[in-house]
Amino acid sequence: MSLIINLRHLEDHGLQLKGELPVAELDLAVNDELIRLTRPLRYDLSVELLHDAVLATGSLALPLECECSRCLKKFKTELKLTGWAAHLPLEGEDKVSVENDCVDLTPFVREDMLLDFPQHPLCKPDCAGLKKKNSAPKVDAGQKPALPVWAELDKLKIK
Ligand SMILES: [Zn+2]
Repeated sequence: MSLIINLRHLEDHGLQLKGELPVAELDLAVNDELIRLTRPLRYDLSVELLHDAVLATGSLALPLECECSRCLKKFKTELKLTGWAAHLPLEGEDKVSVENDCVDLTPFVREDMLLDFPQHPLCKPDCAGLKKKNSAPKVDAGQKPALPVWAELDKLKIK
């Protein structure tokens, strides 16, 4: 139940790693009261030894229990990384630390999970929130909002 890989086991052929990593071991420093981690991370990875690096590829999924940041509704979702890949150099300046022929993938998983972690969980992308009156109209990036005042001016010009 860990993401520690013995490099010796990789020498002949690659490894398939499939299992669950307890949240405590993943140790995501998430300081967000809207998101709770109650279930383990699931991983399904292929690990192979290149001539000077370890390559891990596959998918990661972390169940999240969230509270919508707009309407406060509780909902469950998953933080999924499909096509995840980590290239861990064994030589050079950026080489990973190897202890007793073992490399730990956990820090790399943690880092990428944090990068993709939702900042403001929403029960659905267009959640209107609790009060419709006070919520600002949603404007999609790249799409200019219609300006009613100018539209009125145009009308006046035509007349
Ligand atoms: Zn909501």
